Amino acid sequence: MNYVVMMSTNIMAKANRVYKTKVPVTKNQQVEAEVVDITYQGMGVIKIDNFPIFVIDAIPGEVVQVGITKVLKSYAFGRVIKRVKASPNRAENVDKVAITTGIAPLANLKYEAQLTFKQRQVEQLFKKVNVSVEVNPTIGMTDPTKYRNKAQVPVQMVNGQLETGFYRRGSHKLMPVEDFYIQDPKVDEAVSVTRDVLRDLGISAYDEEIHKGVVRHIMARRGFYSHELMVVIITNTKKLPEADNIAAALRAKLPELKSFIHNINNHDTNVIMGQWNETVWGADEIHDQLMGKDFIIGPNSFYQINPQTTAVLYTLAAEKAGLKPTDVVVDAYSGIGTITLSIADQVAKVYGVEVVEDAVLDAEKNAQNNHIDNVEFVTADAPEQMTQWAADGLKPDVVFVDPPRKGLTNELISAVSAMQPKTFVYISCNPATLARDTVQILAEGFHIDGPIQPIDQFPQTTHVESVLIFKR
Ligand code: SAH
Repeated sequence: MNYVVMMSTNIMAKANRVYKTKVPVTKNQQVEAEVVDITYQGMGVIKIDNFPIFVIDAIPGEVVQVGITKVLKSYAFGRVIKRVKASPNRAENVDKVAITTGIAPLANLKYEAQLTFKQRQVEQLFKKVNVSVEVNPTIGMTDPTKYRNKAQVPVQMVNGQLETGFYRRGSHKLMPVEDFYIQDPKVDEAVSVTRDVLRDLGISAYDEEIHKGVVRHIMARRGFYSHELMVVIITNTKKLPEADNIAAALRAKLPELKSFIHNINNHDTNVIMGQWNETVWGADEIHDQLMGKDFIIGPNSFYQINPQTTAVLYTLAAEKAGLKPTDVVVDAYSGIGTITLSIADQVAKVYGVEVVEDAVLDAEKNAQNNHIDNVEFVTADAPEQMTQWAADGLKPDVVFVDPPRKGLTNELISAVSAMQPKTFVYISCNPATLARDTVQILAEGFHIDGPIQPIDQFPQTTHVESVLIFKR
């Protein structure tokens, strides 16, 4: 690598603090500068008199002519008019739509540079919280495209026609897209087919401004190994018009279809799926295999979106945990039981805790289907349940946590500390909260065991997964 990707996950907040003098640019002005950084959204950063300007599709080391499109108090946005000098790390022939929409904001970086970017990002976040730790090079994929097994695609009327696509960055204006670049092409196909069927039957998209219309999102999920396909139509209305005709048309055009579900979401929030599902045709769930085990995946259950790297991730986490046949293990944030069931035959007992009830029901069925009986799942808030287990005197040898992006709570960390496990395995999909939580975990008397291992679960995006082991 001939350059180091400079970092700023939080550059907008930093800009707010740093920039106090008069704004040096105006709208429509043209400036020329070197790109010095990448934001967490994957935008390039140039600076004029230290004032940051965020630019789509500009990478560090490049010199760009930029037209200023929007000026705010402490930062501005611009677009590239001319690339005066390109970076040797620029990837050739990449999908422009994927970059400009933000589907794949890092696709303009060669894959090697993406992996370095992610390693540096983790390093910087730990430096910021003053924790010294070694960060290994990011483990990448051999083919880092078309990996996502699931799509949740917004639906909107555009010029009187029902369209599926992607919201432009920072807006709710839909840009029609068919090839999502990082998704399984069969998943993309399922979305386009469903869109065409809805068009043919004259079904409308929901309009969130006037609160009229029917369909909000289409969700499609496909088993990487099983090739079983699920399609979910999410409506604002209680009824899905023409449901049976939609089912017949989907079955005719999607031979892999195993499950077609109608989901209702009439809440005006950012949550895509509602709690109410009706199976219109086929099974209530699909199956897929992971690490030799079979899993049932329902419409509302979390399932890792990159099954190829997930297997690498879990194998590595289990290895690093040094599991023994006598070990009692807790798997917090257990979802449909993927970690629990993949380690169960290496240990004496695993307890899983997960807040989504349907996911726990899936996890229990998954245990049965795989003939695993040394596991127990509880539906509860993980911090509450861990506190309860600690109070009950449960003393696991190993605790795994795999929380959502917001990370752990103080309560959960204190509960783990009270349980005094030998090993605490933290699998994280957000290095910022991993770094934050590490500070408290260390304060509770654990120490870091070995380097952090970043894994590229989400190629072409700015996200990165990491595994970190703590010992008592
Ligand atoms: N380990 C699983 C799931 C990880 S994703 C896997 O790899 O498949 C994180 C999981 O945490 C999701 O299943 C989500 O439903 C669950 N979750 C979110 N908040 C929670 C909470 N407060 N308590 C318990 N589980 C929670």
